[in-house]
Amino acid sequence: MLRHLHFIGQDSEPDTGRFIDKIAPSSGKKISEVAVGSAADVDRAVQHAALAFPAWRNQHPMVRGRILSAIAAKLREQVDRFADIEGIETGKPGWQSPIEIETVAKYFEFYAGLVSIGHGEIIDLGPAYHSYTLREPFGVVGVIVPWNAPLQQAARAIAPAIAAGNVVVAKPSEETPGSLAMLARVAVEECGLPPGVLNVIQGVGKEAGAALVSHPLVRKVAFTGSVRAGIEIGKIAAERIIPLTLELGGKSANIVFASADLDAAVVGAVRAFSVNAGQVCLAGTRLLVEESIHDAFVARLVTAVEALKVGPQPDAVIGAITTAAQFEKIQSYIAIGIEEGATLSAGGKVLSAEESQGGWYVRPTVFTHASPGMRIATEEIFGPVLTVLPFKDEADAIRIANDSDYGLAAGIWTRDLGCAHRVAGQLEAGQIYINEYLAGGVETPLGGYKQSGYGREKGVEALHHYTQLKCITIRL
Ligand code: NAD
Repeated sequence: MLRHLHFIGQDSEPDTGRFIDKIAPSSGKKISEVAVGSAADVDRAVQHAALAFPAWRNQHPMVRGRILSAIAAKLREQVDRFADIEGIETGKPGWQSPIEIETVAKYFEFYAGLVSIGHGEIIDLGPAYHSYTLREPFGVVGVIVPWNAPLQQAARAIAPAIAAGNVVVAKPSEETPGSLAMLARVAVEECGLPPGVLNVIQGVGKEAGAALVSHPLVRKVAFTGSVRAGIEIGKIAAERIIPLTLELGGKSANIVFASADLDAAVVGAVRAFSVNAGQVCLAGTRLLVEESIHDAFVARLVTAVEALKVGPQPDAVIGAITTAAQFEKIQSYIAIGIEEGATLSAGGKVLSAEESQGGWYVRPTVFTHASPGMRIATEEIFGPVLTVLPFKDEADAIRIANDSDYGLAAGIWTRDLGCAHRVAGQLEAGQIYINEYLAGGVETPLGGYKQSGYGREKGVEALHHYTQLKCITIRL
């Protein structure tokens, strides 16, 4: 049986004796075992990282950049290997994982090109002084990621962190242990990354994750995951006075105005909530539709949703729910929506045992005649469940969209440029997409407003979060 171990320095660590089972979401069968990292394992990884830090931070930035470029090239060369393990562990459909691995390669490529822009500035204090700033790495950065896009979320923290001269100890979700340890090994053995610059610890959040955040040599943490875990990590980080990037959940509004290109809006609205079986923090799961087009739009939406092919078959568009707990949670929210009195207009069912071949599949589900206060309209479900809410005018749309504890993303569909800009300016969310949900790339900064988190990943902005500013002033 395949066992996923830690990768510390340049080696997989021998068995710790404690393992948990990994179940394949597409079959419900055990496929591997995952080491349960302890505080001692985390300590070993952090010590290795700390030892590697001085040489890595003093390396010429161009050399760091060349290694990041080599990692990007290897990811492309070995895309099938990485896509296969992610596909098996997450239950993503066949078309999706290679696209995600290409994005992982782009993160390394993008930050490889930015290694030399960590410039400071010169501050004019008159002729008697010379004052300037430097951007310096923190040292050991802890990276903790969830299971819905495992390598992408890891890469968007690791690539800028190591580009800026930090060293990393990363913990993947216990549900998706394979791809990150594979990447660390490839980076060290085939791309020239010095041992210790990227280490991977397997294990569960409350033990390995908490030990990583608490370790005295960890000087910065980047966390992607639930609000619950974000709060726990935030408390430890506050006591230790270390900076934190929190990328948390969402319940994002996707707003369709009557002035939209409705063909594009239907396609965009379906994709926004159903891609990755809705297990996307940015998912547009509250669909706000202008009253004058509501009924006609919903009819087209439901037809498009019902046409989506779900299941383990190679040509399916929608794959599995990655964890058993999430599979249960989504079903419980469908029951809540029905109890709350919303109308179930599409889906609402899991695939039968015969259709699913033992896997965890939920048909994309649409609730209509819902109201903004319902739990299905306010709580993050993290599955393919859409709640449709009508609105009267621009002001009403903005009010409903902002009536949320979250503020990760929002979509706007309109051909009226004035409306697009006015609404974008008023929405309380870190990402606004106009006429294409999830528009953007590795270059565009990502982060939340309100309970969706703080700090920014991606883009040039991320480099600021993986460096600290030093100011040096000389009396001449
Ligand atoms: P989770 O918070 O349970 O786990 C995420 C990671 O944190 C895992 O590696 C887990 O082992 C670890 N962890 C859990 N508790 C911890 C603790 N107390 N201390 C340290 N580490 C801990 O989340 P999940 O169920 O794996 O993922 C789903 C959630 O992630 C959703 O809420 C989703 O919105 C969010 N998410 C956010 C983004 C984003 O970029 N904003 C992206 C993807 C997922």
